[in-house]
Amino acid sequence: MLDTLHRPLRDLRLSLTDRCNFRCRYCMPVEVFGPGYQFLPREEILTFDELVRTVRASVELGVKKIRLTGGEPLMRRGVKDLVTMISAVPGVEDLAITTNGILLNHQAEGLAAAGLDRVTVSLDALDEEIFARMNGVGAKVDRVLLGIKTARLHGLPVKVNMVVQRGVNEQEILPMIRWTRENGVTLRFIEYMDVGASNGWKMEEVVTAKEIVEIVTSEFPAKPVAATYPGEVAKRWTFADGEGEFGVISSVTQPFCGDCSRLRISAEGKAFTCLFASEGADLRAALRNADDDVEVLDFLRGLWGARKDRYSEERGLISRTKAEMSYLGG
Ligand code: SAM
Ligand code: SF4
Ligand code: SF4
Repeated sequence: MLDTLHRPLRDLRLSLTDRCNFRCRYCMPVEVFGPGYQFLPREEILTFDELVRTVRASVELGVKKIRLTGGEPLMRRGVKDLVTMISAVPGVEDLAITTNGILLNHQAEGLAAAGLDRVTVSLDALDEEIFARMNGVGAKVDRVLLGIKTARLHGLPVKVNMVVQRGVNEQEILPMIRWTRENGVTLRFIEYMDVGASNGWKMEEVVTAKEIVEIVTSEFPAKPVAATYPGEVAKRWTFADGEGEFGVISSVTQPFCGDCSRLRISAEGKAFTCLFASEGADLRAALRNADDDVEVLDFLRGLWGARKDRYSEERGLISRTKAEMSYLGG
């Protein structure tokens, strides 16, 4: 199954909820997502059965990797039952979750037993004050680190994602590298992106991939590694002393639309063929109108077949209203 730019459909990202227990300033600033904010009512959110039907149809079209995200996916009740259901679908080769890690300590064992393959934990700083300011709710670093430790104890490989924002946490780049090297965890830096409409994104606040690599290699010499598969999002670097690697996701300064093989489904079942799309297609209607999966399959086939998105390569040439990251799941 190829889109109009000959890109296959390989990755499916399912947002399980639009709610979150953090208020990261770059994603859900509290001034916008305050106490009065209207999150999706339960009946509008895809059920586990609907999510599994989506997975089955996507696998038929070529999807091999599934990622559960949000909002905060570990806030969705019964998430480990969903993991059991999805991991049982033939053809799913890799099932991962992206989480802020604050609830991971309690859930890691159940998730590992249910068939989860890996975890990505988002952690932007080790310094308590910087982390508290960034997560907006005063969440503690130690709880996230404990979640990481517990996940690994139960056999789940963990990667850590760090969004770097100028004037906010670039001084945490080296401490984070030191910690991940000492603990055998791979760190991936993410350029701060212009997603949604509420974070007030400015180019000046982006610490570029090039700058990040310069900072890391000033203390830890490293060399770039060739991509292991087409569509690999992070550019990888191995440390010269053999102590592991790090990655940089340079979606702003070095776009990778040419290899983009991801389909994103929001919690309410809108299907987005690009992280920066203004609108999603109504997959939920297809799921709720039909009892069998044929209609869902046709819907997804039609959507991917017509896909021509390449926002990051066109950034600056076009302006549009974009969906929020917490809604779409990153
Ligand atoms: N709540 C979970 C978490 O934080 O891992 C999953 C959802 S979150 C939207 C997914 C990823 O998007 C996180 O790694 C987060 O840091 C990243 N993210 C959110 N807003 C971003 C932005 N403006 N630029 C770059 N990454 C962003
Ligand atoms: Fe929540 Fe993740 Fe967004 Fe932070 S990045 S507000 S943890 S959804
Ligand atoms: Fe894919 Fe859209 Fe990002 Fe390009 S801008 S890499 S098409 S999600």
